[in-house]
Amino acid sequence: MKIYCIKVDALPFCQEVLQIQNLVSGALLRQVGGVFTTSSLIQMFTGKLSSDYEPQGVGYHLFKKKRDKNGVPNWTWMNEYIQFYLHDKGFDCIERNQGMIMDECLGFSKYPNLYSERTTPWDQHDNKSYKYLREQGKEWEESRDDEFRWIDKTKEAKGNIFYFINYSHFHSVISTVESKHKKYHKIAGENVLEILGHYDFNEPDSLFWIFSDHGAWHHPHLGKFPLPEHFYTWAIVKDNTKEPLTFPNKIISMQDFPMFIRSKFGSPIQQFPKDRIFLTEDGRQAVRREVMTTAIACQFPEPNKMDCLLYHICLNRYLLRESVFEKGGLVIETKVKSPKSSKSFGILRKALRENFDWVTK
Ligand SMILES: [Zn+2]
Repeated sequence: MKIYCIKVDALPFCQEVLQIQNLVSGALLRQVGGVFTTSSLIQMFTGKLSSDYEPQGVGYHLFKKKRDKNGVPNWTWMNEYIQFYLHDKGFDCIERNQGMIMDECLGFSKYPNLYSERTTPWDQHDNKSYKYLREQGKEWEESRDDEFRWIDKTKEAKGNIFYFINYSHFHSVISTVESKHKKYHKIAGENVLEILGHYDFNEPDSLFWIFSDHGAWHHPHLGKFPLPEHFYTWAIVKDNTKEPLTFPNKIISMQDFPMFIRSKFGSPIQQFPKDRIFLTEDGRQAVRREVMTTAIACQFPEPNKMDCLLYHICLNRYLLRESVFEKGGLVIETKVKSPKSSKSFGILRKALRENFDWVTK
């Protein structure tokens, strides 16, 4: 079996997601994920929040402190990553276009033999994506062709393989100035779709899990209290294995990923109630460099409505919001709600207090 885990970094739920879905024809899911890559991937690889592992969670720069005397990243809990489970099941792990975040922030460089192949160092990839978004010339073509050649290799590969693949095109445009954002977003979309179009989403005995780790922070702007656009993302799953995954709930948590992967080897899939409470977290480095800054609990009283309670570590206060989504899934509006007028406030506050020991109010 091959598992293709493909991250389209920083692509919020939008038109391009539907275009990817046209290409893939998989199960289109909405997912509550993190607000930045490290925290999202910790959730995805362990099934837990970073606040379950470290006091006040894993902020942007905590990895710089968590090293052994040789300077190697040293998380005590990282062997809970799903990659180790798959490795034990005889899977080869291959990484593409992620480099630095996997090695340093997540700590994989502590286990140099876990990934049998790593390609495209982060810096090189990031530089390239900036360049080809701006010029659309030779650099883009070279980079695309390199990606095509690599994808061809994956199609020929045999055996059990877990691929973790990253496409950073949208990440490269999220900090562009407002007037240029739309233009570069469109180019990023064209580039990503062209690359994804080279995969064979009908490849037998393969599972494709395509997803975004977070939204575009500046569109809309991310303040102390993240909006659904920042953490309510998407996943498209196409399962061509003998017993394909099914998704009776179209809203999942990013933390469900390891459970679904383990179910391919006979583990049970947990059934969640309709009023499931989803938890996530955000850490803004401008506020606190090493810890999480906002704890988030949300619930869907109806599929097109989200009640969300956010707690900010410095302000030491809560903010309750209600978001309404159109049928296609885009946010129509998000408004602040008074705790007094809401049934969900007490339930969500309890969930935050019970799951984040740094929620003190
Ligand atoms: Zn990211």
